Amino acid sequence: MISDNLEQIRADIHRLEDAHQRTAGDVTLLAVSKKKPVEDIRQAIDAGQTCFGENYADEGVEKITAIANESIDWHYIGHIQSNKTRLIATHYDWVQGVERAKILQRLAQHRPDHLPPLNICLQVNIDAEDSKSGCSPEQLMELAAQTDGKPEIILRGIMAIPAPQTDLAAQRAAFAQLATLYRSLQARYPQVDTLSMGMSGDMEAAIAEGATMVRIGTAIFGSRD
Ligand SMILES: *Cc1c(COP(=O)(O)O)cnc(C)c1O
Repeated sequence: MISDNLEQIRADIHRLEDAHQRTAGDVTLLAVSKKKPVEDIRQAIDAGQTCFGENYADEGVEKITAIANESIDWHYIGHIQSNKTRLIATHYDWVQGVERAKILQRLAQHRPDHLPPLNICLQVNIDAEDSKSGCSPEQLMELAAQTDGKPEIILRGIMAIPAPQTDLAAQRAAFAQLATLYRSLQARYPQVDTLSMGMSGDMEAAIAEGATMVRIGTAIFGSRD
């Protein structure tokens, strides 16, 4: 049951906040609903979940349109193709995973005037993996500066997917580096309040190191195959 899973994960998050000296309620749970039907999302909404992450632009827009609920926040967390920026900027509330200046520019250009600014998290490739998206830590401030003077978008923070590690200490080391980058971004951009890191397999390490948002799919909705 989706509602039972949500209840369990919320309890886990509270326990981990407490165990790692985090303020209760600091960590937002983003429910990753990619490849899951609208019915599953409705069940999660009925169980009190208010923010959802989608990886495929068109699939997500179909669900956003079907659900048509103004109080839900929709996060686009997938790879961003430049020919999808209009669709994404029109339908989503957040875009996590921006890694290039050109994409920022197109999202700003395509954000409709009647909507509030599109919330942006920049993706950092913390392990310099060839297979992963994201800017390098060294490029982060330069990329962030590309949000200056664009009122259609607002920089909210960082998103990252570190290389999979099974050992808690190794997981924490990557998240700690991200937390340092996050603090330097916050020093320059006071509105920055989102450090999106941690998934079903590394949530504890992420919360221990300061995540403010964890992105959980499988543990809520079950496997996706
Ligand atoms: C799929 C996905 C998740 C959720 O992963 P689970 O292992 O199912 O919890 C989180 N973040 C991103 C970017 C994803 O693509």
